[in-house]
Amino acid sequence: MPEGHTVHRIANTFNSDFCGKKVKVVSPQGRFTQSELVSGKKLTEAKAHGKQLFLHFGKAIIRIHLGIYGKWSFQQFSTTPPDPVGEVRARFLIPNKLADLRGPTACEVIDENQLQEALRKLGPDPLAKDHQGKNLERFLEKAHSSSRSIAELLMNQSVIAGVGNVYRAELLYRARLNPFLAGKKVPKELLESIWLDAQRLMPIGVRTGMMLTREGYLKGKPELADRYYVYKRAGERCRECSGKVVMEVLAARKLYFCPRCQK
Ligand SMILES: [Zn+2]
Repeated sequence: MPEGHTVHRIANTFNSDFCGKKVKVVSPQGRFTQSELVSGKKLTEAKAHGKQLFLHFGKAIIRIHLGIYGKWSFQQFSTTPPDPVGEVRARFLIPNKLADLRGPTACEVIDENQLQEALRKLGPDPLAKDHQGKNLERFLEKAHSSSRSIAELLMNQSVIAGVGNVYRAELLYRARLNPFLAGKKVPKELLESIWLDAQRLMPIGVRTGMMLTREGYLKGKPELADRYYVYKRAGERCRECSGKVVMEVLAARKLYFCPRCQK
């Protein structure tokens, strides 16, 4: 599943290529029946919050959540757009460019009130500007009051928006934190350092498109296997203590960690 940095990259692409232009919106597959409500209007802004994307066409807003299978593809063309391939839920067209959306969990037109409601349900996003540390405060409040494990909390979009399985595993490892510790048992300073670490790491993802979480490997384009401390490294040696990295299923998602480093 794409993590927040991917969605922020998509928002950046929409802002640079589609913003300020009248966009034809169609649904080649037919399932996005609300496309007529926005088609032909000017895209005024694209905004990401966590894993959700909001495309503003004046007062009408398209809310998109990719979920597990959703994908975007962007194409340039000279005169006529190429025929859609596969199940394209929504196609966004401007002269010479198009964006195809396939397989999202959500793609719907909402209004300003519904937007506010959607945003209220989401926790703070480490990739958003944090005015006076309000987002950090909200994260601390939510995480520190919960008896759920910190590993579950970091995947909970109402606690922190945009973190997925890769960043979750890597943030916990970098904090040398036991993933099963309840949020309320994690010292506030440590929760704060996780938030700050997410604010440090996730922009690298937005910039490069890669989730690079190892210090010293943050340049160039390292192999996938070299990018992480623990994610998808079950059975391999920990890079720091040479103990074994393990995988456990927690709340139906795979959790990778080093039991020796993360006591
Ligand atoms: Zn270790």
